[in-house]
Parts: sequence; C-alpha cells; structure tokens
Amino acid sequence: MARTSERLVVGATIKDLIDDGYLVDCDIYAPSEPDLKGVKSSKGIDGLLDYNQADLEDATDKPELIGDILTHWRKLASDKPTVVFATSIAHSQHIVEQFQASGITAEHIDYHADDDERADILGRFARGETMVLSNVALLSEGWDCPACEVMILARPTRSLIRFIQMVGRVIRQAPGKTKALLLDHSGSTARLGHPCDDLPLELDDGKPKVSSKQQAERKESLPKPCPACKFMRPAGVHECPKCGFKPERLSDVLVGDGELVKLDRKKPIRRKPASTCIASCLGMVKPGDSRPAGRITNMPNFSAASTRMDCAR
Ligand SMILES: [Zn+2]
Repeated sequence: MARTSERLVVGATIKDLIDDGYLVDCDIYAPSEPDLKGVKSSKGIDGLLDYNQADLEDATDKPELIGDILTHWRKLASDKPTVVFATSIAHSQHIVEQFQASGITAEHIDYHADDDERADILGRFARGETMVLSNVALLSEGWDCPACEVMILARPTRSLIRFIQMVGRVIRQAPGKTKALLLDHSGSTARLGHPCDDLPLELDDGKPKVSSKQQAERKESLPKPCPACKFMRPAGVHECPKCGFKPERLSDVLVGDGELVKLDRKKPIRRKPASTCIASCLGMVKPGDSRPAGRITNMPNFSAASTRMDCAR
C-alpha cells in the first residue's frame, strides 16, 4: 500500500467500538492447546498464510483434546449459545458427537448442506433449540447471530485476520449480553494476542520488517494464561483478575525469554558497569517494578491493505 498511497486513514477500531457500546469485550480462557510440532504452513486460496489443513486435523482430532473441550465448556460456558470452529469436517463432527453424547443439543454445519438445510440448522440455533453449533470455516464471515455468546476455537491459526473474523461472530451486542467468552483450545491468543486489542495499522510495502528486538518485545506483550484457572491475563498482570491467583516469585529477579549466544573466549569480553548491565539484560526488572500494560505493540508484516474489519460490520 505504501507504493500506491501516501496516507492511511484509520477508522474505528474494535476497541473504539467496544468503548462506544457497539460491540462487547471478550474474556479468554486457554485451557489447552494441541501439539503443533510438525504442522507446516502454506498460503490458502484466500492468500492468507496459515497452518496446513491436513496437518492440523492430525494434530487436533484426538479424543483427549475433544474431551477437554467439553469439560471446559461445561465448567465455564454451560448453557450459553456457542459456536465452534474446528479444523476439518470430521473434527467438527467428532466435537458435535461428544456434546450430543453428554445430552447437549449440538449440530454440525458445512458447505454440503443446501440452502434449506442451512436455514433450518441456523434457525434452530438462533431460536435456542440448538446450544452448540460447530463448523470449519463456513460461519467465519457473513453469519450474524448476535445472541451467540461463546466461541470454542479448536482450530489453531497463525492468521490474525482469520482470528479476528472468527471472534467477530461473538462480540456483537445483544440484549443481556455484557461480554463474550472465547475458549481457546488452539494457542491462537498466546500466538497472536488479544483479538480486541488495537492493531498497529500503518502503510507498508508488504515485506516483513520485524527485527529480533521487535519480536522479543511483541512476545513480551502477549497475554499469558493464569496457571490456576487458564484465564488469559494481559502481559504484566501478575495477579489473576478472575481467580485472584498470584504466582510466587522464585527470586527477586524476573527473568524473561532470551536467546543464549555462544561467547568466543579468544576475544576479550568488555564488561559494563553492573548497573548498566542489569538494565540492558533481557526481561530483568527489579522487584516492585511494573511492566507495561498488555497491548500488542508490534505485529509482523501486518498490511493495512488486508485489514478488513469484517467482525465490526
Ligand atoms: Zn486465574
């Protein structure tokens, strides 16, 4: 966009729309996530770089993971209208079977259903006759059901746009709805950040410009799950705002993620004064220091050209 445009006019952000009462905010719990080791990424027909569908199905369509989805839904979202995003038709059907086996009204929908069947399934969900509606990607755009309050994300994604589109299904205003709830079984929030946070919109030429320092800062700004209840706390929030759990500090010094570098002992090491050294060490802060509030400050290669706010329509 930077090659064709001089200025970017940023419209209302999701956060603006929440603050102004047009959308509702979203609480997120991340009870579990699949092992994505070996899952490759590729560009889909929509041009978005994301995890390979077949690899994802192998990683997620497992009885123990599906059982975990049901367990946490019962605990945190029981009896609330819920949409599920799965990795494949089979995965979606297996999730539905698990809910049905526990006596919960659940239906699967996919592109095989004709217009009448789709209207019937969506109608039953809108009228509250079906509690859980599961799909792969059919409902991620263009489906409007403001009463839907809970989303189970069982489909890992590395696409921020796709993530926001899916979350957009549950953050619409509806009578009696004060907050949406995301049960993230995909690791997407830990990977991409809170979907309702402001995005760093700017014109770019489409090429990645993220330095290792920016990557480290971004990682530091991502939400982290509470060890006790799995609520996704904003970065820097020590005490869980949901359950009050306060992890014990192991020492007076907090150590952040960093990269170990092999030192060449043949070269003399020039040491800095201790105070300067501490200040420059990765993630080390003195006790009592506060960290910045949880906001995504840097996003890799996030092109303004592709920031369609489908979720905010
Ligand atoms: Zn907690």
